Amino acid sequence: MRAKAVYPNAAFERLQGIGLTSQRMRDRMVARQIEAQLEDVRVISAMRATPRHCFVDEALASRAYEDTALPIGFGQTISQPAVVATMTQALLRDLNPKKVLEIGTGSGYQTAILAQLVPQLWTTERICELQQRAKLMLTELGLTHVHYRCEPNELGWAAAGKFDAILSAAAPEEIPASLVDQLAMGGRLIMPIGDGTTQKLIVLNKTSRGLVKHSLGDVLFVPLIEDACV
Ligand code: SAH
Repeated sequence: MRAKAVYPNAAFERLQGIGLTSQRMRDRMVARQIEAQLEDVRVISAMRATPRHCFVDEALASRAYEDTALPIGFGQTISQPAVVATMTQALLRDLNPKKVLEIGTGSGYQTAILAQLVPQLWTTERICELQQRAKLMLTELGLTHVHYRCEPNELGWAAAGKFDAILSAAAPEEIPASLVDQLAMGGRLIMPIGDGTTQKLIVLNKTSRGLVKHSLGDVLFVPLIEDACV
């Protein structure tokens, strides 16, 4: 699968960036932090094409191409690019899921990467203002085939039917059974599991022989909150 022709609706120059937010900086970030650890060229080209500076506050735009998480308000963070790339590669590998659920839209950066690589994308968030902001930017970038939901009292999106893959950018202490339920047979869940100090990035495959799980290493994400939306 090739990344789609990206951003047909973009107000090109602002979204493209200049100086520290330019294509040159995106290319440099990918070359230094991502290409060395990743083999999926679809992910590499989506990371190159996605203007991360558009997903952070203007005051932080000059740091958007550092390989680090940054604050996005409401005590949340935009994920670290190398971790976004690792999770996306793990999601696609030997599966190429058609229907994908993202938990934790946040800034919309991971959503933008996924939207270029999977045909059907659903994303949920509990902080509605964050999701509204993300939706505006994704729409401006021409990534319009995304379903959004900010809904209290439910983890995931059961009414949307089963998903081929689920990716979470927020960490619960244990794998939530309700998310495993929302996976199709043969499907895959990718999420950080752990507390505020120690977390593992888990890949869980739902197979006819049961759940098969492995870890991609240590990470640090914001906690998954299981209460009403804000
Ligand atoms: N990939 C996003 C990461 C945002 S941080 C980005 O790069 O911007 C994780 C997000 O998960 C936060 O915005 C947080 O509000 C959200 N979150 C936490 N618990 C959630 C839940 N139960 N359902 C949906 N989103 C949740």
